[in-house]
Amino acid sequence: MLKNKNAVITGGSRGIGRAIALEFAKNGANIALIYGSNIEAMEKTLTEIKALGVHAMAYQCDVSSFDDTKKTISEILADFPHVDILVNNAGITKDGLLLTMDESSFNSVIDTNLKGSFHMIRHLYSHMMRQRKGRIINIASISGMMGNPGQANYSSAKAGVIGLTKTVAKELAGRNITCNAIAPGFIETDMTGSLSDKTKSAAVEMIPLKRMGNPEEVAKLAAFLASDDSGYITGEVIKIDGGLYI
Ligand code: NAP
Repeated sequence: MLKNKNAVITGGSRGIGRAIALEFAKNGANIALIYGSNIEAMEKTLTEIKALGVHAMAYQCDVSSFDDTKKTISEILADFPHVDILVNNAGITKDGLLLTMDESSFNSVIDTNLKGSFHMIRHLYSHMMRQRKGRIINIASISGMMGNPGQANYSSAKAGVIGLTKTVAKELAGRNITCNAIAPGFIETDMTGSLSDKTKSAAVEMIPLKRMGNPEEVAKLAAFLASDDSGYITGEVIKIDGGLYI
């Protein structure tokens, strides 16, 4: 489905990004994996991707930095002849009620989740425009659609990602480039692993399908959006949340 396509995946070393990288590789895509600081997780994922017989390289890069992402994209474009797919998945949470949320935790969540996506699209924009094809997939969250107490920073960032997605879809449609967002609900990763058991069981209780999702389920949706089969879908926000936000 993705044979000979080259995909850049931010936060591709762990959780949802790791599952997307492996699913893309299973479908024949070569992978440029961007990670933050966890070298051990990166090496494990990179080894598993390479075992699937595709070309894969990893790049340490802080997506919240305009300059770092610019440098990394030029490295990737030197290593890979073209980039067909960009998945903006890297994200962090710093939860807390707005009453006590300090400016630095607001800024860092916006910088990683929202500005990180802007930086990556910005630096690949002219490359994708010139090749007149491409797929951009941004990982948002239902928190950005419905709001969530304790996540003023995160839901603002993810709502921003949705606005960014729709604008990019309109700007690049004429060049045969689609841009869509995936809005997961509760997915079992390190990010949700840090929630208390009480919070997790309260969340599961609210989910009509009565379970959390797994990263592989998100990865299958991302693979469809990255494929040629999704060519008439752009500017969409697709929820994958077990019915939590119906
Ligand atoms: P995760 O398990 O915590 O993994 C986060 C990934 O992002 C790691 O690979 C990490 O790399 C990377 N990363 C973090 N900050 C970075 C930075 N500044 N620069 C580069 N890479 C960075 O998270 P996840 O649960 O898979 O979440 C993935 C995406 O899905 C996020 O955008 C998240 O907001 C979204 N999402 C998750 C859920 C959920 O329930 N899990 C629900 C809705 C949306 P290092 O390990 O090297 O730092």
